[in-house]
Amino acid sequence: MTAERMAQTLVMAEGATEVHAAQVEALAAARALIAALKQEGRHHVACSVLTAGARYTACNLQSTLPSASVCAEAVAIGMAAVAEPGAPILFSVAVNRRGEVIPPCGFCRELLTDFGSEALVCVEEDGGEMRLASVRALLPDAYKGRLRG
Ligand SMILES: [Zn+2]
Repeated sequence: MTAERMAQTLVMAEGATEVHAAQVEALAAARALIAALKQEGRHHVACSVLTAGARYTACNLQSTLPSASVCAEAVAIGMAAVAEPGAPILFSVAVNRRGEVIPPCGFCRELLTDFGSEALVCVEEDGGEMRLASVRALLPDAYKGRLRG
């Protein structure tokens, strides 16, 4: 799906009023990165996240030890956390090696909630339409570390 088609087919999340050019550009950046870096056993997913002032695009790190692998979202969020400490993540989009939008895994939904509780996440419906979902909608009962006791 082209960036133009994405802009045409995105269905707004509750409270969202428009598709921002930066979101469309973030999708394009993720697709460009995975197209350049995809490598069997190393990089299969790319993700772009947006803060209020910048975009961070990264790929996953697949390890021979599966539990040591890191999702693209985690790498991108980490890049933002280092470059802009405390700046919330406002948007996230991830794509597979074919450039198709894929939803964040449960781990990344938790991470996005921690680093961008108001973030919008681009998700693709079965029919190919994309929409922006709030991370809260994707993870309605997020883990609350403060309740660990
Ligand atoms: Zn993940």
